Amino acid sequence: MTMLDIDGIAVSPDHYIDGRRVPSTESFELFSPIDQRPLGRIAEGLAVHTDAAIAAAEQAFPAWSALGAAERKPLLDRFAEEIGRRADAFCRLESVDAGVLLSRMRHGVVPRAMLNIGWFAQHALSLQERPIETEQAHHIVRHDPAGVVVIITPWNAPLMLSTWKLGPALAAGNCCILKPPEWAPLTCSLLADAAHAAGLPPGVFNVVQGTGARTGARLVADPRVARISFTGSVPTAKLIAQAAGANLVPCSLELGGKSPFIVLEDADLDGAAATGALMYRNAGQVCLAGTRFLVHEKVADAFTAAMRGYVEKLTVGDPREESTEVGPIIHPRQVERVQGFVQRAVAGGAQLLWGGAPHDFGAQYFQPTMLTRLQQTDEIVQNEVFGPVLTLQTFSDDDEAIALANGTDYGLGGVCYGATAHATAVAERVRTGFIWVNSFGIRDLAAPFGGIKRSGIGREGGDWSFEFFCDIKDVVVPKKPFKASFSHR
Ligand code: NAD
Repeated sequence: MTMLDIDGIAVSPDHYIDGRRVPSTESFELFSPIDQRPLGRIAEGLAVHTDAAIAAAEQAFPAWSALGAAERKPLLDRFAEEIGRRADAFCRLESVDAGVLLSRMRHGVVPRAMLNIGWFAQHALSLQERPIETEQAHHIVRHDPAGVVVIITPWNAPLMLSTWKLGPALAAGNCCILKPPEWAPLTCSLLADAAHAAGLPPGVFNVVQGTGARTGARLVADPRVARISFTGSVPTAKLIAQAAGANLVPCSLELGGKSPFIVLEDADLDGAAATGALMYRNAGQVCLAGTRFLVHEKVADAFTAAMRGYVEKLTVGDPREESTEVGPIIHPRQVERVQGFVQRAVAGGAQLLWGGAPHDFGAQYFQPTMLTRLQQTDEIVQNEVFGPVLTLQTFSDDDEAIALANGTDYGLGGVCYGATAHATAVAERVRTGFIWVNSFGIRDLAAPFGGIKRSGIGREGGDWSFEFFCDIKDVVVPKKPFKASFSHR
């Protein structure tokens, strides 16, 4: 298919398989969340494409895995550099395609995408052959690459999440097939250009575009696949886990959240309120946002007033404008979904503290919203909205705060504001994969990331990524000559 021209940036709508661009006879239309303008048609991944990509990855695997981490590192460093060389294109494309703030792309996402590749290439060097010495034997514990890896990512952070998985998977010596999100596939296509320019051997990194139900489902059901790394929603994860289970393929699942944002009686209310307003970042389409505010009843009015002050100053608008803080919702279907949640909550007796309606800026934009007067069993308290809609409940003591915090099926993250020792003690009792004390969003590639309960299975980051993407093998070499005996233990 012909190259797309997105505001002067040339980007391929085709797959990238075995080092070459491959078109499809079928395609789907792509729209910008900024204004719903059509951006062009994207290749649909048919059986012939998923087959070819898996075959290419299989074929590339022996040579790529045999290179070793030290020899892969310069190629992966070059991959990171090629991402950097295209920084402007990555930023502008993802802003138009996914509605992510251009400023956030420039200052946060693209530097992080480069780091995701470079950091894991470096970290892989430390994984080679960890010896364990016992009286009887030398144990050489190896991290062997698993083989063909399928990576499936969602639309809310395609570049960040794709590189977060690709970095360790490739550094470990696997060959990858990336299935980008159909609502925001463009930066994943550009990633293939960067990999190609870096000289990654054909078949090591493949991109198969397409819709989840067709292309994604075919990839995860293929028995040649050794690992599936998925970030997305709970219903999709269940389908993927079933397909993976049929072939006994390990899968890593990073899913949704309904994370608590706890404000204790002894919290710095202004600091908590300023951080609270950050939950509207990316129009609330952030898995790890603290979306359920749980505030001590004695400080609830003061906290609400402080947060309202910050929210009133938020600029909703075009994500390409430097001054914009809250951009669009990805898709009209998602706007409808967000509005439906709010309408049902209000009809059920919830009170709007602010927001609650579409934003004047355009059909894809929604007012930052806060609802209160809620029951723990209410739909909006229990379910992920994935839009700029938060809830506020009050509590009277720590035990009640913790019961409310733990009272959903999710367990991704959390935020806890209070006097440091007090907030830390409360945070330790909240059942989630991670929780920030008096802060939000501090991440390090060496630290574990992932959720519990419906928020996922497995951990990514640091050694945890490599444990997933590798087959851990123990090569046992006895220290004394081994004498075979049936009575030997
Ligand atoms: P989604 O589950 O609808 O889609 C995610 C990806 O899965 C897409 O690429 C899609 O094409 C693919 N897919 C869909 N059906 C498939 C199938 N049957 N087989 C294989 N692949 C299939 O999720 P979404 O709406 O794109 O993303 C939003 C969700 O992602 C939210 O729930 C959010 O919380 C979650 N998320 C989680 C994290 C995390 O790290 N925990 C990060 C970002 C987003």
